[in-house]
Amino acid sequence: MSKETLGFQTEVKQLLQLMIHALYSNKEIFLRELISNASDACDKLRFEAINNGTLYDGDGELKILLSFDKDARTITLADNGIGMRRDEVIANIGTIARSGTKEFFSQLTGDSAKDSHLIGQFGVGFYSAFIVADKVTLTTRRAGETEAVRWESTGDGEFTIENVEKASRGTEIVLHLKDGEDEFLNDWRLRSIITKYSDHISLPILMKKRAEYDDEGKEVPSDELEAVNQANALWTRNKGDISEEQYQEFYKHVAHDFDEPLAWSHARIEGRQEYTELLYIPKRAPFDLYDRDRRHGVKLYVKRVFILEDHDKLMPQYLRFVRGVIDSNDLPLNVSREILQQSKDVDTIKSGCVKKVLGLLEDLSENRQDDYAVFWKEFGKVLKEGVGEDIANKERIAGLLRFASTHNEGDAQDVSLADYIARMKEGQDKVYYITAETHAAARNSPHLEVFKKKGIEVLLLSDRVDEWTISSLTEFKEKKLQSVAKGELDLSNFAEEAEKQQQEAAAEELKDVVEAIKAALGDKVKEVRVTSRLTDSPACLVVENFDMSGNLERLLKSVGQDVQTVKPILEINPDHLLVKKLKAETGGARFGDWTQILLDQALLAEGAQLEDPAGFVKRLNGLMLDMAA
Ligand code: ADP
Ligand code: MG
Repeated sequence: MSKETLGFQTEVKQLLQLMIHALYSNKEIFLRELISNASDACDKLRFEAINNGTLYDGDGELKILLSFDKDARTITLADNGIGMRRDEVIANIGTIARSGTKEFFSQLTGDSAKDSHLIGQFGVGFYSAFIVADKVTLTTRRAGETEAVRWESTGDGEFTIENVEKASRGTEIVLHLKDGEDEFLNDWRLRSIITKYSDHISLPILMKKRAEYDDEGKEVPSDELEAVNQANALWTRNKGDISEEQYQEFYKHVAHDFDEPLAWSHARIEGRQEYTELLYIPKRAPFDLYDRDRRHGVKLYVKRVFILEDHDKLMPQYLRFVRGVIDSNDLPLNVSREILQQSKDVDTIKSGCVKKVLGLLEDLSENRQDDYAVFWKEFGKVLKEGVGEDIANKERIAGLLRFASTHNEGDAQDVSLADYIARMKEGQDKVYYITAETHAAARNSPHLEVFKKKGIEVLLLSDRVDEWTISSLTEFKEKKLQSVAKGELDLSNFAEEAEKQQQEAAAEELKDVVEAIKAALGDKVKEVRVTSRLTDSPACLVVENFDMSGNLERLLKSVGQDVQTVKPILEINPDHLLVKKLKAETGGARFGDWTQILLDQALLAEGAQLEDPAGFVKRLNGLMLDMAA
């Protein structure tokens, strides 16, 4: 096929400019990114060659070659990995076919320090070449094919692509350096970049041997090649031989992230299954955390051969943010995704790795609380899914949960169930919580009034996932969890004898009005009763303990689920003036309107939408006119 000129997708154009700007202060990372890609390409070839050895074509020693040409002012990086076909080149480095692209652009601020984090997270490895180059030429031949393609671009909106000859498989990238970037045309500089960022790469990264000097001090260049890196898989080294920086750089490579990880766990496990795990918790959530077609996950190796990257079988859903490698000594080299799903051996490895990750999180939560807070902010909502998903580890996951609470101000989720239990009031035997659509609705809910009065802490739950989490978590450390908006309130342990008598008397006194309200509201409510729950509000709604909360019902309806409406119980505050007025008005002309308003405002306070808002306004106006008269 002849030479074609194609336009980058609009997003690529935008991204290139932003990236050059945002990452310029750390420009040497372009080399790390290209080496990372070359290493991935060799991993892919090794995997495909398991079933098709001819792909090696007599050249099974996978490697990466780095050279530079001072006169031409170019740097060349070559690998003998899988290579790309023409269509793959166009798809991989001409477009960003990536979920979350829109959200990504909407989050950019123009502040390069902030944007550089985002850009790294979004994954722009290849394009980072344009930080230092004003022209990039990529020539590649896919393993098993005879035709090669050349892609070339000056990074300003277009690229050309043409078929060319290439003697061997793999990819060669030539960077034509921008003016002023000559610092990279230097043996020492390139070697030190490799040592700093790419030492962990398991293939040799070869450069020409350093020049020697003869007796007269003249440079004698060498054509021999030597590996600049250690060239063994990092996770197979002993922990003591791996520096913090090496762990971090390895993370950036496996996770395709530009940021440092938050924490990691590295262990060799011997038992029913022998494997090594090196698993990381990222510092930031990726864009596709909630996307079914997530790009990245944990990488599975078998005896150091990369097999696949998987995002739903090696880790449970609720730990889908974990990155890293699992290297098994026992699994067969031909494990496929299908086998992964059914293999008991994989289950054993998976459950071992889950325990490692939970242990890592527990350690963070106890010993590095600031980091745990970062983790929680990014991934707390995902971890909450685990309570319902992973029955075997439910108690441990529950221990890791953090909630907003009436004990603290603000909406930060920083109270654990253990914190709560440790400061429960004398005589308190339940962990109280409320669920609502927003933090403000939870914090200001009428249901909290008596708890505030008695100084009893209530956890404030307002994440969407909370309803689901809490429905699977009925107790923790033998303490029952109780919604303050469900069932009959029993705070008898906290009530004085006189208070109890007073409540009983009030209930007795309001018996007739309760009947009348019930009659007026008909089947809009299941029951009407007097409550001790309220101090300031006239009324609130509750449901039975076993019923779906109003919040959950609204949530499910909002996502289009067909759920049956649960009839609420209307509870009224015997001490409230409005309730007293209502008693006086029993049988009067306005009684029906008043009770309807009482119900509607209780609904509004919960964050519900009224079925007949216009009717509510009309009744309210009627009342106000009465008062004005
Ligand atoms: P990422 O590495 O996160 O996928 P990059 O922008 O670094 O993103 O690379 C984009 C894609 O281009 C890679 O996923 C890969 O498919 C392809 N690619 C890049 N470099 C090479 C290479 N040296 N050999 C084969 N494919 C490559
Ligand atoms: Mg990459």
